[in-house]
Amino acid sequence: MQHLVRGTAAAFVAMTAACAQTPVTPVTPAKPTVVIVATGGTIAGAGATSANSATYQAAKVPVDKLIAGIPELNNVANVRGEQAFQIASESFTNEKLLQLGKRVSALLKEPGVDGVVVTHGTDTLEETSFFLNLTVHSDKPIVVVGSMRPGTAMSADGMLNLYDAVVLAASPSARGKGVLVSMNDDILSGRDAAKRINIKTGAFGSQWGALGMVVENQAYWFRAPVKRHTMKSEFDIDTLTSLPEVQIVYGSGNMSPAMYDAAAKAGAKAIIHAGTGNGSVPDYAVETLKRIRAGGVHVIRSSRIADGFVIRNSEQPDDKYDWVVAHDLNPQKAKILAALALTKTNSTAELQRMFWEY
Ligand code: ASP
Repeated sequence: MQHLVRGTAAAFVAMTAACAQTPVTPVTPAKPTVVIVATGGTIAGAGATSANSATYQAAKVPVDKLIAGIPELNNVANVRGEQAFQIASESFTNEKLLQLGKRVSALLKEPGVDGVVVTHGTDTLEETSFFLNLTVHSDKPIVVVGSMRPGTAMSADGMLNLYDAVVLAASPSARGKGVLVSMNDDILSGRDAAKRINIKTGAFGSQWGALGMVVENQAYWFRAPVKRHTMKSEFDIDTLTSLPEVQIVYGSGNMSPAMYDAAAKAGAKAIIHAGTGNGSVPDYAVETLKRIRAGGVHVIRSSRIADGFVIRNSEQPDDKYDWVVAHDLNPQKAKILAALALTKTNSTAELQRMFWEY
């Protein structure tokens, strides 16, 4: 025993001497750096009591406080926060989309930034995630995240959603997959993720399914997006300065065709028809839409049905009327793509190509 101790002490002295000569380099691998760009929403919300899961004020808690509330983030990445806006997402405008997109793009150009998380209200999260997916030219992970309950509520979902989003943004496996949405353990594509229930924590989904899941600090993948996005997109946030006006008109029984005229009069360059069924147009509204198209405004047939896709020349002769179909994009996603498409072209054929490709 005595011999062993003496031997160990000798080894220690020898090691210390060696260390004195050679500078010690830390061997811990560098943690990735993730920037959280906060825009408000329920994930930054606060209610009067812990029983208030649905009645609260969105966009109250600053990003630094959100980050400080999850010390476990330090195990995953070097995390820093930026407060882009502090708004409820129903108040997003085109100007805000452009401002946010430009900031995300600039951050991802920094060599020291490995990924970006955008915290966002859930109401228009599907629009913003699709917009970023179409316009930010980066392979680095961009993850959009929200919550359905404010942090002050019992069983609040924001902490774990944000933690999962940072795990994803820090993960090399998330590179090149387009903008991702992290909600309720699911990894969804920002292209087709949509809010499908307005009250439960499992609010987001896609008719095409999740791409994967985040469980205990690990991303598991099962699918990959096939539509054009980010690096392969022809739209570039860095060169965009404004977006043209596009409006949605909702289809229903006994709808008023005067709504289309109102949208065109308000300056819409394209009208998304959120039609019944297969983007159907009532017989009494066809002439109005033909007249509007003849006046230069594009008519894009989408559907008010959450799932499925609109088939060209099926319910209506789109070729004959020079209309476009929105493929599987819901009206609000179609609105985003139409606005971007119109910054590039006024040709119906080109618009339709874009709706097939993105
Ligand atoms: N109205 C809120 C928002 O979109 C809802 C939410 O974040 O869940 O900002």
